[in-house]
Amino acid sequence: MFFIFGTKNRQKEISSGNFYCPHCRVQRAYKLMQVGQYFSLYFIPLFRIKDLGQYVVCQHCEQSYKPEVLNMKVPVEQILTARDRLVLSIQKELQEGMPVHMMKRKLISQKMDEPTTEQYVSEALDGKTISCTECGFEYIAGVQRCLNCDRELE
Ligand SMILES: [Zn+2]
Ligand SMILES: [Zn+2]
Repeated sequence: MFFIFGTKNRQKEISSGNFYCPHCRVQRAYKLMQVGQYFSLYFIPLFRIKDLGQYVVCQHCEQSYKPEVLNMKVPVEQILTARDRLVLSIQKELQEGMPVHMMKRKLISQKMDEPTTEQYVSEALDGKTISCTECGFEYIAGVQRCLNCDRELE
């Protein structure tokens, strides 16, 4: 009697989820695979001899990556909706020192309706405002100077 033995590589899925696939450039489903070298007898893998590591496969493009890909941060623009992006750009302008009412006027002049303007601006402000004690102009918290009076806000 003689034995046919050898080694065989086998992979099994250890987890799955969503990740940012660098190839697809969007969120995709992935499978995290574990590769092991098994001792086999008559071509049947019996037990694991060696860990050959793990890799991540994109379920869409089937590219494989090192597990570190799972820690990769999704570029912010990729997960933001057009609406979020707009609110962020409003916030940025406010932070650059634009008074709140001027911001609203600007949006309305760009054909944004009033309720939407109020909604987006209030989201951008996030309840953090500062008013000029001299003229009453309102700004997003953190703005240093009143554009109207050219004086420091406190
Ligand atoms: Zn992919
Ligand atoms: Zn002022």
